[in-house]
Amino acid sequence: MGKSETLFERAVKVMPGGVNSPVRAFGSVGSTPRFIKSAKGACLYDEDGNKYIDYIGSWGPMILGHGQPEVLSSVIDACKRGLSFGAATAPEVEMAELVCSLIPSIEMVRMVNSGTEAVMSAIRLARGYTKRNKIIKFTGCYHGHSDGLLVKAGSGAMTSGIPDSLGVPAGCTQDTLSADYNSLGSVTEHFQRCGEEIAAVIVEPAAANMGVVPPKPGFLEGLRSLCDEYGTLLIFDEVITGFRLGISGAQGYYGIEPDLTTFGKIIGGGMPVGAYGGRREIMELVAPAGGVYQAGTLSGNPVAMAAGIAQLTILKEHPEYYTDLNEKANKFYQDMQKILKKSGRPYQVNHVGSLGCLYFTEKEVADYESAKTSDTKAFADYCNYMTANGVYLAPSQFEAMFLSLAHTEEMLQETLEIMEQYFMGT
Ligand SMILES: *Cc1c(COP(=O)(O)O)cnc(C)c1O
Repeated sequence: MGKSETLFERAVKVMPGGVNSPVRAFGSVGSTPRFIKSAKGACLYDEDGNKYIDYIGSWGPMILGHGQPEVLSSVIDACKRGLSFGAATAPEVEMAELVCSLIPSIEMVRMVNSGTEAVMSAIRLARGYTKRNKIIKFTGCYHGHSDGLLVKAGSGAMTSGIPDSLGVPAGCTQDTLSADYNSLGSVTEHFQRCGEEIAAVIVEPAAANMGVVPPKPGFLEGLRSLCDEYGTLLIFDEVITGFRLGISGAQGYYGIEPDLTTFGKIIGGGMPVGAYGGRREIMELVAPAGGVYQAGTLSGNPVAMAAGIAQLTILKEHPEYYTDLNEKANKFYQDMQKILKKSGRPYQVNHVGSLGCLYFTEKEVADYESAKTSDTKAFADYCNYMTANGVYLAPSQFEAMFLSLAHTEEMLQETLEIMEQYFMGT
């Protein structure tokens, strides 16, 4: 038995499902996890000594690749100065200035420890600012695991959300309205019924938690103008897209300014970091400046800030990195389409910048309903083949592929060849 298998046997006895976050369990592809020992550049190495080309990148943070030397040395230097002080530090100021300089819609920012925390706090702030309770979220968008956002996929006509997890009281989701991604009609319906009660619309400006679903032309613009019309705040959840689609995130990429933005993943450079920010007038309501309470013992941790600042600084100093990454990704996803087309299999390849997803369906994927038409058994078989051949994909149909700057032409070509072997049976 391999080391990963032995570790998993031990893990399931002492950890629910054997993992600390569900998708790592490989359950949705009917397989078991590889335990990763180390990583370098665009490659992962497991406990059994297998090497993989990594298309997860820690679910996004590793946009520069694993073990980027400047990021590593910043972290090591910070460790030597102290792991945590629970007091104000210079790197927190530096990080806040950096984020405000990179994202035009942000004048003030608060650091937290995860994307979940960032979103949960941004919603509290939106409610505090507007003195309203209801929020609209889109089915298939993921915003972390806080109570109010774990809502069952619902029809647009439903007036209150139904919990999608045990342990979430119905009271926690009653103010969460569901709408369909890319459907302004489903949003307008809610606004017409109760627009004056809606505190915020929260959206992934390019959805990357139901595979990858780009916004249709006019969708984000439409949300912006509905929010303006009703005095509702527009929240972009840029936990994935932030600093990935470009240095100013999806809002820069699509040219739409939200009122509040949430970050995670890339902003921490691999450390557990989240952040939310927006206009001064709104952010000044956050404690201790204002009456919306939110706190964190380890928030703005100096080691975490060192990793994030180092990564963001490199990205800021190299605007050409985004052009290169997006061009490289564009070609990769196009080549993938060619292989699928030749194979005669039903498929859709959706991609935005370095994010992409292969669905096994004939239907155009533009929302959760169409994403669900993908043949997940076909995905599982494909995913298991790729993993067995040294290509580490997200073990779920409904997650994105993340390309990084460390992926070389050769690695991408090798990946395409393995795909071709699989689909053409050669
Ligand atoms: C990952 C993710 C979150 C949650 O972030 P965590 O750090 O896992 O809590 C929230 N929103 C989006 C869009 C995400 O992709």
